[in-house]
Amino acid sequence: EKTSSSNFIKNIVVEDLKSGRVQEVITRFPPEPNGYLHIGHAKSICLNFELADEFKGKTNLRFDDTNPVKEDTEYVESIQEDVKWLGFEWEELRFASDYFEELYNRAVLLIKKGKAYVCDLTAEQTREMRGTLTEPGKESPYRGRSVEENLDLFARMRAGEFKDGERVLRAKIDMASPNMTMRDPVLYRISHAHHHRTGDAWCIYPMYDYAHPLSDAIEGITHSICTLEFEDHRPLYDWTIEECEMEAKPRQYEFARLNVTNTVMSKRYLKQLVDEGIVDGWDDPRMPTISGLRRKGYTPEALRAFCREIGVAKSNSVVDERNLEFFIREDLKLKALRTMAVLKPLKVVITNYPEGQVEMLEAENNAENEEMGTRQIPFSREIYIEQDDFMENPPSKYFRLFPGNEVRLKHAYFITCQEVIKDENGEVIELRCTYDPKTKSGSGFNERKVKGTIHWVEASQAVPADFRLYEPLILDESKEEGASFLERINPNSLTVESGFVEPNMKEAAGGDKFQFFRHGYFNVDPKDSTSEKLAFNRIVSLKSSFDP
Ligand code: ATP
Ligand code: MG
Ligand code: MG
Repeated sequence: EKTSSSNFIKNIVVEDLKSGRVQEVITRFPPEPNGYLHIGHAKSICLNFELADEFKGKTNLRFDDTNPVKEDTEYVESIQEDVKWLGFEWEELRFASDYFEELYNRAVLLIKKGKAYVCDLTAEQTREMRGTLTEPGKESPYRGRSVEENLDLFARMRAGEFKDGERVLRAKIDMASPNMTMRDPVLYRISHAHHHRTGDAWCIYPMYDYAHPLSDAIEGITHSICTLEFEDHRPLYDWTIEECEMEAKPRQYEFARLNVTNTVMSKRYLKQLVDEGIVDGWDDPRMPTISGLRRKGYTPEALRAFCREIGVAKSNSVVDERNLEFFIREDLKLKALRTMAVLKPLKVVITNYPEGQVEMLEAENNAENEEMGTRQIPFSREIYIEQDDFMENPPSKYFRLFPGNEVRLKHAYFITCQEVIKDENGEVIELRCTYDPKTKSGSGFNERKVKGTIHWVEASQAVPADFRLYEPLILDESKEEGASFLERINPNSLTVESGFVEPNMKEAAGGDKFQFFRHGYFNVDPKDSTSEKLAFNRIVSLKSSFDP
């Protein structure tokens, strides 16, 4: 594996080490535990951990748990699992809530320095008085409160004397600043909510813009990497560290958010999909969550390679989902066993094959990787082929089975379709074929050629399996202009086919990955697959689908 490609943040780190601003690189990944991680977070995880790794530094996993109403230990646990699964090890596991006492004390310091005040304006009044990009804001009538009064009120806020929204603590900076973020931002709000870790110990909670820089400084983070929407917040980040007299001086750097076509990438929306039952949980294989991608069959190697490839940009863009698919194909190409699965079975009886006889044929496990060896697969008088590999009245250029036509059965013999059996509704339910024993695969037979090769599974030993085929969950915005994401849900995002796989796959365990000849890469579903009925999730189809 390559180390992270050269990027602007890396150049900054090189400079900082050279100039002595920092002695070592310490980064952090700071998720809010209010949902499961998605592929966008994977980008941030790779960036933070790989940057530190490259310079023999460290990375903390820090939960930004300052918003008790939305946070939960379920999320705390899933996030740790996902980071580990991606292949990273954090130096320390931290929680912003570990720092609540210190954050409070620093706020008291700000008050004492005349840099913060308790404000009684309502949220709406505060918003109205903030001004606009072209108009300066108006100062709060509470801005001039004495230090003593502020200290008293802030202590009483903490003690629980006031209701939610009644008062806030604000920084005293500049209501005329051209940067809206600097117009006396709120530092603390009242919320009588139960916190997943601190319980009811607190009823005031620090805002992100206050808690984040201080948490970074407490941990000695050297490079605090976040997404572009925080660019305007950087002066406040620096102000907070300065005015709170933090010893360490972390610096914030921004990079572009990752967006992927045909999906939504905000925990808020993803949670809505889960809560409204549109998907089967956060790890539904259609979800862009790390757990969903894992369940679908993505590997950590593929996700890391993808994140590395898209690099670190300074402007937001949307990455085509096919990019992601490229990397999983690349990763599985030489690793996955190539076997045969029939998704929509049609029975074929080979009339000139001896009844009761079963022979074993040799099949290579991966045509591109000889080291994977071979396996034995049964062949007999009755097999299943794909319904789509037969047409009674084919168009020209159709080289698969039709009455009178001969095709090659992969790893086996040539067969010729002699007769079509239908039910009372005229549906084709069975084919009668003959085989030519001279054409056995590997025998060197070359007297005649056929244009079509199809796959099959021997009927008596075939193992039943469900195949879950996916399409994007959300249709592209450009196709449904202006529609909300819930209106763009793809009704065909999941199709289930019931068919068969080769008998030697009976023991396949959750997470095992295969390439099914002509159908693509599949993962054994870790939740729904049983020994009675295997369940496979299609990870991705083959790059060039078989189309003779
Ligand atoms: P969401 O909007 O999905 O809830 P968030 O930014 O609020 O995302 P956090 O838990 O706060 O989620 O994110 C943790 C880290 O991951 C942050 O540093 C954030 O910048 C980064 N991150 C989140 N989404 C993306 C994305 N799409 N691309 C790159 N980094 C991201
Ligand atoms: Mg956030
Ligand atoms: Mg968020």
